[in-house]
Amino acid sequence: KQEHLRKPDWLKIKLNTNENYTDLKKMMRENNLNTVCEEAKCPNIHECWGSRRTATFMILGAVCTRACRFCAVQTGLPNELDLQEPERVADSVKLMNLKHTVITAVARDDLRDGGSGVFAETVRAIKRKNPFTTVEVLPSDMGGSEENLRTLMDAQPDILNHNIETVRRLTARVRARAKYDRSLELLRRSKEMYPDIPTKSSLMIGLGETKEEIMEVMDDLRANGVDIMTIGQYLQPSKKHLKVLKYYSPKEFKELWEIAMAKGFSHCQAGPLVRSSYHADEQVNAAAKE
Ligand code: SF4
Ligand code: SF4
Repeated sequence: KQEHLRKPDWLKIKLNTNENYTDLKKMMRENNLNTVCEEAKCPNIHECWGSRRTATFMILGAVCTRACRFCAVQTGLPNELDLQEPERVADSVKLMNLKHTVITAVARDDLRDGGSGVFAETVRAIKRKNPFTTVEVLPSDMGGSEENLRTLMDAQPDILNHNIETVRRLTARVRARAKYDRSLELLRRSKEMYPDIPTKSSLMIGLGETKEEIMEVMDDLRANGVDIMTIGQYLQPSKKHLKVLKYYSPKEFKELWEIAMAKGFSHCQAGPLVRSSYHADEQVNAAAKE
């Protein structure tokens, strides 16, 4: 039986509970909104909601039709489609005075459009009510349909982010119903549809991948036109989820960052606590300057 690895010190962070973000949490509940920041108990929440003015909303309900083995989101029968959600998200973005917002969604394999219609409406509503806020979208593969992707891209988000999550060999074990090549295809198609919209993808490490396999992911992303990459440590959300097989040290992350930059990404974030949406505001600015 495999033993649990001990969590290294650099991952033991103390949450500062003095900061006054309880009002924001209350507002989320009153408006029936979900954020990844809260759901995933993200350690960066004070920095993001406070000084960085960034937040990640999870739309289309809190229940996912898939059950990826690394993900803490509940699986089951999806919530009824809420057509007022786009406006409520847009109002909250305004209330939180956000500079940058990430919109992600559970996978809605029950819907013909994969949820892309409400997703696109959310982007439009945010932009209408918050013309200075940048919007990054982080969809699932939406069933691999080009039409669904176009519905979303036509709303012209500032960044299209779709996570490759893990290396090719581990995809079937780690991600439910997703395919490595289908994710690459989504990233390539986005770039073909709107060449000026930067594309981005995230990789979690610590699931048993080799360094060569990580480099293969970098090459595959670059070959499909991806501009921005983030690399973070996988952390096991509960005992039912996949075990962590390796904790990478900050030094190893730095080395991966150097390799990624040498491969031609315009921006890369790599570190133990890096999440798909961490420091995303910097990436949109960097991409805009190019
Ligand atoms: Fe939210 Fe992402 Fe920041 Fe975490 S890193 S608090 S999920 S915006
Ligand atoms: Fe989690 Fe996304 Fe997988 Fe659903 S599709 S289980 S939200 S990672």
